[in-house]
Amino acid sequence: MGNTGVATGAAGPDERAIAAFRSALRGPLIGPADAAYDPARRVYNAMIDRRPRLIARCADVADVIHCVNFAREEGLPPAIRGGSHSVPGFGTWDNGLVIDLGTMKGIHVDPARRVARVQAGCTWGDFDHATHAFGLATPGGLISTTGVAGLTLGGGFGHLTRRYGMVCDNLISADVVTADGRFVTASEKENADLFWAIRGGGGNFGVATSFEFRLYPVSMVYVEPILYPVERGPAVLKFFADFIAQAPRELSSFFAYLIVPPAPPFPEGLHGTTMCGIVSVCSDPEAGANLARPLRELGPPVFSIGHPAPYPAVQAMFDGLMPHGLHHYWKADMVNRLNEPAIAAHAQYGPQIPTVNSVMHVYPLNGAVHDVAADATAFAYRDAQLTHIIGAVSGDPAPMPRYREWVRAYWEALHPHSAGGSYVNFLMEEGNERIATSYRGNFARLAQIKRKYDPDNLFRVNQNIPPAAD
Ligand SMILES: Cc1cc2nc3c(=O)[nH]c(=O)nc-3n(C[C@H](O)[C@H](O)[C@H](O)COP(=O)(O)OP(=O)(O)OC[C@H]3O[C@@H](n4cnc5c(N)ncnc54)[C@H](O)[C@@H]3O)c2cc1C
Repeated sequence: MGNTGVATGAAGPDERAIAAFRSALRGPLIGPADAAYDPARRVYNAMIDRRPRLIARCADVADVIHCVNFAREEGLPPAIRGGSHSVPGFGTWDNGLVIDLGTMKGIHVDPARRVARVQAGCTWGDFDHATHAFGLATPGGLISTTGVAGLTLGGGFGHLTRRYGMVCDNLISADVVTADGRFVTASEKENADLFWAIRGGGGNFGVATSFEFRLYPVSMVYVEPILYPVERGPAVLKFFADFIAQAPRELSSFFAYLIVPPAPPFPEGLHGTTMCGIVSVCSDPEAGANLARPLRELGPPVFSIGHPAPYPAVQAMFDGLMPHGLHHYWKADMVNRLNEPAIAAHAQYGPQIPTVNSVMHVYPLNGAVHDVAADATAFAYRDAQLTHIIGAVSGDPAPMPRYREWVRAYWEALHPHSAGGSYVNFLMEEGNERIATSYRGNFARLAQIKRKYDPDNLFRVNQNIPPAAD
């Protein structure tokens, strides 16, 4: 690795300190003068354009410990990066130290105990690939390139959540490097306060280096996307909300406004048409067609194609619409009950969805999510029925200001009818109050635990929970 390009004498680490740091690492350390710097400073959301001081591609836990100590001693804010999908771009930071875990991809599956231990650089695609070989799975995100780490630490949900709970509910333990450089295990038995906090509290408490998850016998699943004419949106949405509140847990369905992608399985005549739809995934492949029948019989759908599929294929089915390097602007909220004014707001703004990559999704957060008490983990919304997300996504930055206005106006129309807070992993940089609101009654305890594990708020490049005052 070449010279880092950091001027000697500038604030922050000097060349000698950087050289000593580099020699302590197994993985590469990348600075502004390196050819690798430009691609390495980029994250998934192309709107984010930050210039970190240094980027450390960690090879192992020892590298992570060196990084945390170096960041603390040199006063560089650490930006922790797993899958790099943070939409506000917290995996890169001006003048910070990026702790990039993306190459730490070890996975060990124990099929007898139905447990998987995964390192913090794994994506859900890596995870599902490894566990599917044993006919096992656990709830994970809907896009296979999203990181296991960031998604789990914020709570996490996916197609298996109604049946098996939030992603963090299936965490058995995690190894964490804390702000003072200590390596600790967090579980129900060890450092139970830390374990409570990392199940929803994000990257506030340390760098997680590996996670241990519970697995379930899920291999083939049933999947069925159904499309309806866009003007049926209000009726379809209302039916969906009532239906998914009661549906058996093995079924998970979400509602969408969308522009039909120009690709199979959709017929050419529908390509580029704005429609609404419901996508269902049933973890019992035999029962799926029957359980999704009411959605098919809700007036004649324009298109529906139900079939069994391997779980990892379903987990990757939207990947083509969400490649790295698009421009993203999102807003979201939790929802207790979808009322008439909210349905009217959806009817007004949903059909204005601007691009084929953009998302207007309404996901269920019920079933097994509600089996856990609101104060049992940091993730607090155990009584919400739904969460909606409005995301403008574009390859071209030029129209983004206009698309952003669509997201904001849509969100402002819906927000008064929401539960008030959001899922932290769907927040952009929206301010301290919004973060506190999203943690509800758990925020004060999170701040106390933050004070214990990170009293100086070293880990602040995140949806930040400041340490409680003395
Ligand atoms: C296309 C797309 C699809 C998504 N789908 C879903 C979904 O289906 N379900 C869902 O629940 N969420 C979903 N999300 C949101 C997702 O959970 C968050 O974006 C999450 O932060 C991504 O984690 P990451 O590791 O990929 O991101 P990163 O940007 O690498 O990390 C995000 C943040 O998490 C923290 N972090 C990451 N790794 C560690 C670590 N090892 N130790 C400590 N802190 C860490 C840091 O604060 C970091 O800034 C999606 C996001 C995108 C962009």
